[in-house]
Amino acid sequence: MATLAVEIPRGELEDALDLYLRAPLLELGTYADEVRERQHPAGVVTYIVDRNINYTNICVTDCKFCAFYRRPKHPEGYVLSYEEIGQKIDEAKALGAVQILMQGGHNPYLKLDWYVGLLQTIKRYHPIHVHGFSASEIDLIARIHRLSVEETLRILHAAGLDSMPGAGAEILVDRVRDRIAPKKIGTDRWLEIHEAAHGLGMLTTATMMYGVGETAGDRIEHILRVRSLQARTAGFTAFIAWSFQPRGTELAHIPEATGVDYLRTVAVARILLDNVSNFQVSYVTQGPKVAQVALRFGCNDFGSLMIEENVVSAAGTNYIMPEAEIRRLIEDAGFKPVRRYQDYRMIPDGADPTVCTCRACERRRT
Ligand code: SF4
Repeated sequence: MATLAVEIPRGELEDALDLYLRAPLLELGTYADEVRERQHPAGVVTYIVDRNINYTNICVTDCKFCAFYRRPKHPEGYVLSYEEIGQKIDEAKALGAVQILMQGGHNPYLKLDWYVGLLQTIKRYHPIHVHGFSASEIDLIARIHRLSVEETLRILHAAGLDSMPGAGAEILVDRVRDRIAPKKIGTDRWLEIHEAAHGLGMLTTATMMYGVGETAGDRIEHILRVRSLQARTAGFTAFIAWSFQPRGTELAHIPEATGVDYLRTVAVARILLDNVSNFQVSYVTQGPKVAQVALRFGCNDFGSLMIEENVVSAAGTNYIMPEAEIRRLIEDAGFKPVRRYQDYRMIPDGADPTVCTCRACERRRT
């Protein structure tokens, strides 16, 4: 039996676990598909064109599941300059990107003024929606400067941070986190930072990286913790699950999770998380075929075109596809593909796709 978080009633966890472990796979998929259909009845599957910019790979957190980072002073360590980041944004915009996803290692040499300068430079010279900095990066900046999370986020938001990705959640159960990433923030801190962002009007996403040796109960507890925060704030736009990619990591002995495990996990999450509107497939880790099937197991979004991706590819997995291929896969699965902004508003036909008109960007313009 999983360790119970205080706010989750025992009966609820047991019922959810029963569904997860015992429901036949296709029934689970049908049920999850009905939940998706209720929330997204138009037969549309969205996707976003964006670029993943990993501004530094220097990190002191040593997560055992990570093949991306380099310790300080490692010859392969890097920090991108403002100019390099600006150039990457300009290239992405030329390809139709409406946002950048900006994440990096926990680099203690980068201070708050570096982040503020970067965001201001982006907004002034390369304007684009900035979806950036996971909760654990925010925690590091706040701790370095002895600021509260709210103050840190307020400063970054004012400088140009529009929304926050859900990275760093892995499994929101401290017993699991202590084993795979003992130096990273705990469950309560991850939730606290997302709640603070929601409190400032910033939208965020919730993720789950599973397959690191956790129990089924741990996965359910993770989902219920996200649901509980969403019930209070409604600030999560989407839930994204992906399986741990073991190659090249300290946990390489753990077998990779199967496609069936993925489908079961997203279906149960969709059923339990009926207060989160959007579910992304993870074609980067699952490949195109499983991703298509996932559109009938509760998912309504194909995620990002990812003009650049460094983190999962560092672990040897690399399914990057051109936009035409993403659209074809969505159509082949029986849906209409539509491009979207970060907040999941669809880009209207004929609109300039490079001008983000999500609520956050519109607020910033007025
Ligand atoms: S997952 Fe992030 S925090 Fe953990 S080691 Fe990798 S770069 Fe550092």
